[in-house]
Order: sequence, then C-alpha cells, then structure tokens
Amino acid sequence: ESVDVQRLLHDLLPIVEQHAEQKGVHLRSSVEGETIIRGDSSRLKQVFMNLLANAINYSRDDGEVSLQFEEKEDKVIVSVSDNGVGIPEDEVPRIFERFYRVDKARSRNSGGTGLGLAIVKHIIEAHHGNISVESVVDQGTTFYVEIPKKFTEN
Ligand code: ATP
Ligand code: MG
Repeated sequence: ESVDVQRLLHDLLPIVEQHAEQKGVHLRSSVEGETIIRGDSSRLKQVFMNLLANAINYSRDDGEVSLQFEEKEDKVIVSVSDNGVGIPEDEVPRIFERFYRVDKARSRNSGGTGLGLAIVKHIIEAHHGNISVESVVDQGTTFYVEIPKKFTEN
C-alpha cells in the first residue's frame, strides 16, 4: 500500500487537537509537503495517534506538543516532542515492554494499560523502521520514528 505520510499526519490533527484542548496543551505541527512510502496506513495512524496521545497525557497544563516531519534520501523521520514530565533514564529501555508503565501512581490517573508503545514498536518493526527516544525528567521527551521509503524483503 502507498501512504502519503504528511497527509496521514494532517488527517490525525483534528482529533489530536481536541484531546490537546481538553488537557490544556498546545499542539504545533510543522508538517507540509507530500512523501509517499510503502506501508499500512491504518497501522501507521495508530503509531502516531499513540505517540501524540502519550505526549499530551504526560504533559503539564499549558504544555506544548510538537509534531515534525523530516525527509531523507531513503527514509522519513517523524518526531513527537513534549515538554512534560519526562522519563527517568533507567526506565527508558523498558517503556516498550507490554504493560510497563513508569511510576504507576503517576500514570494511574491517565487510565492507560501500558500497551501503547509495545504496539507502536511492533508496527514500526513490521515497516522495517526504527523508533528511538530522548528524554529528560521534568523537561520532556521526544520520540523519533524512522521509516524507510521502500523496503526490500530478505
Ligand atoms: P496505553 O496503553 O493507554 O498507551 P500507557 O500510555 O501507560 O498506556 P505506553 O503508551 O506503552 O502506555 O507508555 C508506557 C509508559 O511510558 C507510560 O505509562 C509512561 O509512564 C511512559 N511514557 C510514554 N510516553 C511518555 C511521554 N511522552 N512522556 C513521559 N512518559 C511517557
Ligand atoms: Mg500510551
């Protein structure tokens, strides 16, 4: 399936905007252009919805979430940043595990299950892509999703 990544991201914004507004978080997007990759559009939507929902949920009031798109020769990079609570360095490797949540007490009121990032990682791997994270406690978090434009089976 061919997927126009920027269009896919644009289509998510109205829903995400609503969530952000409810939480008093500002959403910025600098996504423009048109890049076609091979992929599964509904699963990729799920990836970015999950990352954006996390960025909003783990923000503070008046926080800021930004969505960015970058195109390289052979891949696209989508990043989702927030200036929220951050993730302690020693917990970062575990957040992609199923049911893992940092600080259960803190996460409880956001009502999640801890499955979001495990699903995200699974989908990205099925696209032969990669996900990485940079985070500083009390300063914020950025997730980077890299997806090759074309992939060859081996
Ligand atoms: P759900 O299944 O509803 O997504 P969840 O959000 O708790 O539940 P994940 O999305 O897998 O589960 O995230 C795992 C944990 O990683 C979260 O509970 C949270 O502690 C931490 N986390 C994820 N994204 C962020 C973020 N942007 N800022 C701070 N912590 C985060
Ligand atoms: Mg989540």
